[in-house]
Amino acid sequence: MPTIMITGANRGIGLELVRQCAADGWNVLACCRSPENAHDLNKLAAASVGKVTVYLLDVTNAAQRTALAAQLKGQPIDILFNSAGVSGSWSTQGFGQCQADEWLDVLNINVITPMLMMQDFAANVALSERKIIANMSSKMGSITDNTSGGSYVYRSSKAALNMVNKSAAHDLARKGISVVLLHPGWVRTDMGGPNGELSVEESVTALKRNLATVTLADSGRLIDIDGSTIAW
Ligand code: NDP
Repeated sequence: MPTIMITGANRGIGLELVRQCAADGWNVLACCRSPENAHDLNKLAAASVGKVTVYLLDVTNAAQRTALAAQLKGQPIDILFNSAGVSGSWSTQGFGQCQADEWLDVLNINVITPMLMMQDFAANVALSERKIIANMSSKMGSITDNTSGGSYVYRSSKAALNMVNKSAAHDLARKGISVVLLHPGWVRTDMGGPNGELSVEESVTALKRNLATVTLADSGRLIDIDGSTIAW
């Protein structure tokens, strides 16, 4: 049974990924920053046919990352899926509105912690069959796709994540690990809002389909929901 580790597993795309992977019989390491309040996730863990284990992990908390890495030492992880992310407030990221503090928080969560997660858990991924790290990016991080401006905070965080991912793809190739960026579509979650084009079910079904065919040749790609490559 393959193992997937998911951050931000308590709601949104992360939660649906837990649901679908558990239904497929996967071993799911579901990480969230407040397990005691993760009611939907806890219900899934109690009821799933697969194996769902809930772990405490605020991805920005170095002590929690280190403790979890120690707890999972030697356990193969087929897919490390960094889904946790924040947008920052959309109303304070137009030109003339940006503030350093919130921007730094978003960069910390969206850029720095996926890198630290890779550093902390690459050894587990290297022990697995599939050897995949998936970082959740966004088309909004594509410079080519930016035809409308604005959203400085979120756009810059995902563009930076793309570069982090590209370097990691080179560096981890020697361990046989594929490191890919995924765009989930515009999804109806707390972040995506009610007008998103896809349900979480539709998005996760497509994300899993795209992950199923990932090989080392895909490492470093920014993969759109239809499987095509998004231009940087
Ligand atoms: P949601 O806002 O629905 O969920 C965000 C998740 O990230 C929550 O589980 C949240 O946990 C978690 N999270 C945030 N900060 C931390 C932290 N410090 N430690 C641990 N967990 C944290 O977002 P989505 O599900 O929509 O987004 C998931 C990913 O997909 C993000 O990376 C996002 O940028 C990306 N994406 C989403 C799109 C969309 O249309 N929805 C489009 C493109 C990309 P908590 O409940 O504790 O806050």
